[in-house]
Amino acid sequence: MPYGEYAECPHCGLIAHDREEIEVLFGYRYGGAVPQSWCRKCRSSRSDKALNPFDAVDTWMSNGMDEDYMFSYSEDELRKYI
Ligand SMILES: [Zn+2]
Repeated sequence: MPYGEYAECPHCGLIAHDREEIEVLFGYRYGGAVPQSWCRKCRSSRSDKALNPFDAVDTWMSNGMDEDYMFSYSEDELRKYI
């Protein structure tokens, strides 16, 4: 990790360079320890279940089963398609 906090949204490419910007544009998870990977805008505009579950599960698995890639499915739902 480079010094200083930095977040880049993999969806729209938005970049935040310090803690305040990250808080405003991305938000934190795990009690403030880790920036959200997707910016707030992309997280809120991500349409519910836009992906079919097979694509969703592929993406989720390839991102280490990260909660940001669950596409409004629950973990139980996704596990049915593994
Ligand atoms: Zn974004």
